[in-house]
Formats: sequence, C-alpha cells, structure tokens
Amino acid sequence: MTEFGFINSIKTLCADLHKNGFEGIGDDCAVFEFSERESLLFTTDLLCEGVHFLRHATSARELGGKALAVNLSDIAAMGARPVATLLSLSLPAEATEEWAAEFMEGYHALSKRYGVALIGGDTTRSQRDIVISVTAIGRAANDHIKRRSEAETRDVIFTTAPLGGSDAGLHDILDGHIDTPLADLHRNPCPEIEKGQWLGARHEVHAMMDISDGIASDLRHIMTASHKGAVIDLDRVPVAEGATLKQALCGGEEYRLLFTASFEAAEQLARDFERRFRTPLYPIGRITEGAQLKWREHGTEVELDWTGFTHY
Ligand code: ADP
Ligand code: MG
Repeated sequence: MTEFGFINSIKTLCADLHKNGFEGIGDDCAVFEFSERESLLFTTDLLCEGVHFLRHATSARELGGKALAVNLSDIAAMGARPVATLLSLSLPAEATEEWAAEFMEGYHALSKRYGVALIGGDTTRSQRDIVISVTAIGRAANDHIKRRSEAETRDVIFTTAPLGGSDAGLHDILDGHIDTPLADLHRNPCPEIEKGQWLGARHEVHAMMDISDGIASDLRHIMTASHKGAVIDLDRVPVAEGATLKQALCGGEEYRLLFTASFEAAEQLARDFERRFRTPLYPIGRITEGAQLKWREHGTEVELDWTGFTHY
C-alpha cells in the first residue's frame, strides 16, 4: 500500500468520528476555529533514522533544527504563525547525553528564532534507531488561512525559490559527499515562516502548501482538493544551481512554498513580494478547468513520466 493510499483509507474509516469543531485530514495542518477571528492549527511530522536521515551524515544539532523546521514549514504553508511545539524522542542507548544536548541546542535555537514555545512531549528508549516526532501549533486570523482547496481557474501558480537543491544534496550524501553546499542545504531546510504569513495576509493568494514531495506530486494535492487542473511551463520552473530540471520537479524536502494567486493581481503581488523580501516569486504555470496536470515546453505540450520523490 502506498503512503497516500493508507492515508485515504484512514480518512474513510474515520469519517464517521465526531469532528469536535476541527477541520480534518487533508491539508498541511488541521484547523480549529476558536473564535470568530482566529484559529489554531496543528501539524505533526516524524523523522526516522535510515529513512529521513543517516546518523553518520548529519550532526545532532542539524537534526534538532530540521525536526522543527519541517513542522514549522507546514504551519507557514497555511499562512499561520507558529506558537508552540511538542517534541517526542525515541533514543537508543548509544545516543549519548552529549548527542541529546546537541540535538536540543539545534531545536532550541530555531524555536528561539521564531518565538516558538516548547510545551511538552515524550521521551523513550529505542532498540536501535533514532525516531523524532514533532507536533507544531500555529495561530492565524481566520481570513488569512490558506487551504489547498482554494485554487481558482486561471490562477497563476507560483513558487518561492529555485528548486531541486535539496534532492541534489540528498544524492551527494548518498554518494558519500556529505560536506557539499547542497548536502548542507538538504540537512538545514529553512522554513518560510515570514513569507507564509505575508502571503496569508494577501487576499489574492488562494491555495497554498509547502513542497515536501516535489511540485510534480504536491501540485496534484492542490488540484485534487480544488477540483482543478494545471499546466506547468517547464521553461519557467526555477532550477537550483547544481540540480536538474527533474530534481526541481520531483525532488522532495524543499520546504519552499507553492501557491496560486488571482491572475489579475499576480504581477502586483510579485512586485510587492520582491520589494518586501528582496527575492523574486517564480510564476511556473496556471490553474485550469478539468483535472489534468499538463506540461508545456516553449508553449508546446510535452509528456513527462517522472515519478515522485523517495527518501533514503
Ligand atoms: P505534509 O507533507 O504536509 O506533512 P502529508 O503528505 O504527510 O502532509 O499528509 C497529508 C495529510 O494526511 C495531512 O493532512 C496529514 O495530517 C494526514 N495524515 C498523514 N498521516 C496520517 C495518519 N497516520 N493519520 C491521520 N492523518 C494522517
Ligand atoms: Mg506540507
């Protein structure tokens, strides 16, 4: 069974459970509207040794930062501000006190940077592998929350940075080159907290998510949730230095933002974004009627059969 097949079967099985005011499974975060003005948002992510990281190829400090960063990215992806986290760790006996202290240094530094409290968690012994689970809580004005389901026909599809660098870094690590700049990028993702909140406050931004499995796969989540199609111009996809176009489309763990914005307001939005963040937005395609994802090169439709991202 695939990961998404399993998630869908969970969704179906649990559809009859009482929602207690929560918006359920399917977006980057679960949303709980606690007042007419504001909501709390919840997300959790698991990092497993051998699947998401190799112990010899990452420092404990980097891992502490990454475990938090990937969760904060899901909060940012909905336009929210992260406020608190819960941290659960399963550590084997050979993970020393020093290792754990270094891990916490990385976690603490990033928490401090974004003003996020650590409010609880759990700590257990494991037989062999390190397993880290982080739950993050965010807060947002109700009308700033960006869901995957809000894309509209004719919307421009944007991403916030050149892509593929994290995947190229993963390949460096797998090839034994753990000290390259791209390997460093892969181990130290930078969640787009300020950009997510800024985009959240712009009403012309419709659907948004973060890129964890590659745009070829992640864009389909926006399309499915919004009941729309999309066309991507391959010549407009920004490719990170040292990466290939395939890595830019299919490479995971980018933790950059993918969003759609009204066609009429898109140019002004891009200008305002660039003025605010001193970095451009990249328009890569358009939302269409229908349900298909199409690829275009120099205006001509092309076939692509690249499959999605896999971890180690
Ligand atoms: P993301 O990459 O943004 O973290 P995922 O692809 O991991 O999102 O998950 C997609 C959706 O499925 C999310 O809404 C997530 O909360 C939900 N989900 C994933 N695994 C489970 C699970 N075991 N039980 C319930 N919901 C899950
Ligand atoms: Mg996400």
